[in-house]
Amino acid sequence: MRSKILPALAVFVLSCFLQAQPPELSKKVKEFVRVSTPKVILTHVRVIDGTGAPSVEDQNVVIEAGKIAAIQKGADVPAADGTTVLDLRGYTVMPGIVGMHNHLFYIARPNLNSQRKYDPPVLVPQMTFSAPRLYLAGGVTTMRTTGSVETYTDLNLKHDIDAGKLPGPHIDVTGPYLEGSESYFLQMPHLTSPDDALQLVEYWADHGVTSFKAYMNITRAELKAAIDAAHRRGIKVTGHLCSVTYKEAAELGIDDLEHGFFVNTQLDPGKKPDVCSDSAGDYTLEHMESGSPEAKDLVDTLVKHHVAITSTLPVFESDAGSGRPPVRQQALDAMTPEAREDFFLVRERPASLTPAKSDHAALLWKHDLELERAFASAGGLLLAGPDPTGRGDVLPGFGDQREIELLVEAGFSPVEAIKIATLNGAIYLGREKQIGSIAAGKNADLVVIKGDPSKQIADIENVEVVFKDGIGYDSHKLLDSVKGRYGEY
Ligand SMILES: [Zn+2]
Repeated sequence: MRSKILPALAVFVLSCFLQAQPPELSKKVKEFVRVSTPKVILTHVRVIDGTGAPSVEDQNVVIEAGKIAAIQKGADVPAADGTTVLDLRGYTVMPGIVGMHNHLFYIARPNLNSQRKYDPPVLVPQMTFSAPRLYLAGGVTTMRTTGSVETYTDLNLKHDIDAGKLPGPHIDVTGPYLEGSESYFLQMPHLTSPDDALQLVEYWADHGVTSFKAYMNITRAELKAAIDAAHRRGIKVTGHLCSVTYKEAAELGIDDLEHGFFVNTQLDPGKKPDVCSDSAGDYTLEHMESGSPEAKDLVDTLVKHHVAITSTLPVFESDAGSGRPPVRQQALDAMTPEAREDFFLVRERPASLTPAKSDHAALLWKHDLELERAFASAGGLLLAGPDPTGRGDVLPGFGDQREIELLVEAGFSPVEAIKIATLNGAIYLGREKQIGSIAAGKNADLVVIKGDPSKQIADIENVEVVFKDGIGYDSHKLLDSVKGRYGEY
């Protein structure tokens, strides 16, 4: 017996050892690597640590074997074998972004015309090639897909990224959308009963999915069955809801709600239980001012039930009124000509709105920003993500940066906004001991930025190198590899 146990033990010990080692990177991935020595020292760098603390000038950050080994007072360090020393005077390092609404698809509408009409059905093509590269280039080192349309593709992509075969962030793969039977998205499951919801959760949890998302037409009974099944397996459920109100979902035990306060339907006129309202939340947001009794009651309920809120401001920004910054050339360069055309149709839409409609959109924007602030002030866990879909002008990576800028517009300080997009996501995922802030012992998931986003948040767009598990990826090379492809695959 002994001779059989020993080899088994040896294999176990060896596999533990192997898991601790970084994967061998493929030739393709190595093309994007700028720093890969076992030891790296970032010298004279400004540190934004992701906890919301003020930035600290002139620090050395020591990376060893994929982990942050130490944060020290800035000093010159001589170069040595196996060590890369980067002089980062004028640069800032912050934790890798933990993107919490980071799809791997884009809604293409090939027949979209200037009236925004298109031939049905709505199609959702995968961006399996370009999206992971854009995310990593933008500083995202961990992300949740927050709804999948090709779940096997996403699971295999995660596997290949973790195995070092493809470039991209660490991925929390969300299962297929838990959608009700009334849906115009043909690529989503259309649940027919609570038992259907339960079976779907069981099946995909067995196949490696690590989160779920409920969608606009789910019933309360289906949502409850899905939440209970997911929780039995230690898996969290979020939702972009409409048929179920925020308060109802909180009471059913949901873990997170998407899109800030934009899609809560509790005050919508004619709202019937389990049925999405015509207003889909607009009326409720219009009539829910921060500080009102309804708003206080809602925020209290969410906080009491430990429900997180994911802020996805970029996807609503085109409705928020004029005076928005111009589109970044790098983002335009990433897209196919058709995606670019679609992008501008969406972006220029506010100009065609009547004054009454644009005032209404601006009011919703204002109310949402205030409610997100009130939720965070009351102790709620606010998360951040871009929601890069065909609603338009939001792209992976660029959108993650824009979300942080818009949190600053909402009234958070730059370091608070960065915490929402880093440590808060890690806390939600239960990974705050490994990722989400810059501290000795944590994974070396770090973003090197030219400038000082703690003073001028727009500097967050100047990403140079993104470290994932201590390997430094060249942001510009990743962007170059995607040019003209986003929107196609
Ligand atoms: Zn979404």
